[in-house]
Amino acid sequence: MSKSDDQSLRPATKLVQGGRRPEWTGDPRLGGGVVNPPVWRASTVLYDSIADLKARGAATHDRLYYGRRGTPTVWALADALTGMEPGAEGTLLYPSGVAAITAGLLALLAPGDHLLMVDSAYEPTRLFCDGMLRRFGVETSYYDPLVGAGIAALIRPETKLIFLESPGSLTFEVQDVPAIAAVAREKGVTTMLDNTWATPLLFPALAHGVDVTMMSLTKYVGGHSDAMMGSLTATPALWPRLRKATYQLGHAVSPDDCALMLRGLRTLDVRLTRHGANGLAVAGWLAARPEVGRVLHPGLADDPGHALWSRDFAGASGLFGFTLKGADDGARARFIDALAHFGLGFSWGGYESLVVPSDPATIRTATRWDDPDALVRLSIGLEDPADLIADLERAFGAMAG
Ligand SMILES: *Cc1c(COP(=O)(O)O)cnc(C)c1O
Repeated sequence: MSKSDDQSLRPATKLVQGGRRPEWTGDPRLGGGVVNPPVWRASTVLYDSIADLKARGAATHDRLYYGRRGTPTVWALADALTGMEPGAEGTLLYPSGVAAITAGLLALLAPGDHLLMVDSAYEPTRLFCDGMLRRFGVETSYYDPLVGAGIAALIRPETKLIFLESPGSLTFEVQDVPAIAAVAREKGVTTMLDNTWATPLLFPALAHGVDVTMMSLTKYVGGHSDAMMGSLTATPALWPRLRKATYQLGHAVSPDDCALMLRGLRTLDVRLTRHGANGLAVAGWLAARPEVGRVLHPGLADDPGHALWSRDFAGASGLFGFTLKGADDGARARFIDALAHFGLGFSWGGYESLVVPSDPATIRTATRWDDPDALVRLSIGLEDPADLIADLERAFGAMAG
């Protein structure tokens, strides 16, 4: 058994040990190994003989065959991520989070199938459903993120997949994932969750009944805003199907990027703890400000998602939203432009704080977002929250003009 397969270890220990198999970090002929799996860059793999070539071609994983099938650096990252998710068979890696989502949907759906997609999903996920998936004969219906076990009424004979994202992008509704997963299991429908916000540290998805869990590693796993990647981690029943589709689609990731992701993964526990604490400090401060309509953070006691979040999640990460009371686009722009310690940019989960404006009303179809106040999303980094709070206070002053 490899170190990362030892499910008796606690998550923080698994983050440190995951993927560091002796055969990937050393060579017996050298008399020892190094701490980290070296960066194995490869397209061509060389064989000893025709028999060797045939044997390795038949292997399904962790054997050098051709660059696209990965090298030990790639396998180490996949192995470490699998180890973080009790109940998982394996992990597949993609050049971005969106590529992981689209590959998963293509692997699990066929023409004539019906997909139930959460209305609070990340916008590019919707674009793929309404674009390429529709063109390929898959019908998507959007459902209320708060539907819970009521999802049963939306399942049709041709429904093959329920896609979840919790908390939801931009609006942070917490879904009752165990209830939805239980209904899906009973009806023979597969579930797939975008777990980028929580990571398996805060929400081990398969243990909550989900079949396939997805992450944009670009966010907290990478953690340093300098690399992009996505992952799918799946149950033994679904992993072979995802693997086959992934090979057919030709997805491959760079070993250099995998080394960056492995570096990020080692410190994920300490970073996420700090992101979560800093985020709650800022969110709590915002909630008491007269300029703020409401704060969308399930870690706050009066948030509508707080009870489910407390039941299911081991903590919060650092991404949340808030509305500016009575503010229009212009006031929001004055506020955001006045911030000095928040970069204005997409993505999140890096060590540095970010801000973006967001407008969920224009995206939804199954539910309505009718809060007229301008919405702002913050990704709280590892700065001292007192400096971030002082910056926000200055920007409120600038917004008032
Ligand atoms: C960023 C993001 C993705 C996509 O990840 P990329 O690596 O940017 O392609 C998917 N889901 C959520 C919730 C995200 O925030």
